[in-house]
Amino acid sequence: MNFPMPNSSVHLNLDSYSIMMNFAQENSRKEIIGVFFGKINENGNGDIEISEAYPFRVGKHTEVHFKDSDYEKILPIIKDCSTRNLEWLGWFHSHPFKRGDHLYMSQTDISYQFPAQIQNPYWTAIVCNPHQIKDSSTFRGMRAFRLFYNSDDLKLTKKVIEVPLKIE
Ligand SMILES: [Zn+2]
Repeated sequence: MNFPMPNSSVHLNLDSYSIMMNFAQENSRKEIIGVFFGKINENGNGDIEISEAYPFRVGKHTEVHFKDSDYEKILPIIKDCSTRNLEWLGWFHSHPFKRGDHLYMSQTDISYQFPAQIQNPYWTAIVCNPHQIKDSSTFRGMRAFRLFYNSDDLKLTKKVIEVPLKIE
């Protein structure tokens, strides 16, 4: 299995950025969730290039998660994306809270990320907040996260690391 290098980054095209952030802005008081697809860059660094995002559902104010029926909806998208050589590389959701920095991985988020990243080491979580678009410590209101692989035995840990996000 290949692993992304510690200095790898996540590239997001403008189209998928807009789909994610528009969905979050349209539901600026509720958490939203969705998935994204793309390619692993062959530069050997393990950067990922996200080119398509799919909104999935709107949750409650402080909680959103996938339902079993979502996976049935995702299957045809996976098939369709594979015809363009795009693979499912992760998920996005919002923390739609005002005032302060809310772009982090909660314990619940980590519990979703962990089994998925064991299956695919490139699996990435993007957290967005429509109220932090102008926060210059963020990437236009977003941050990308993965869990950390122990460098000795490559075992996945529950330590969250931020992955630099490039929106272009
Ligand atoms: Zn969350």
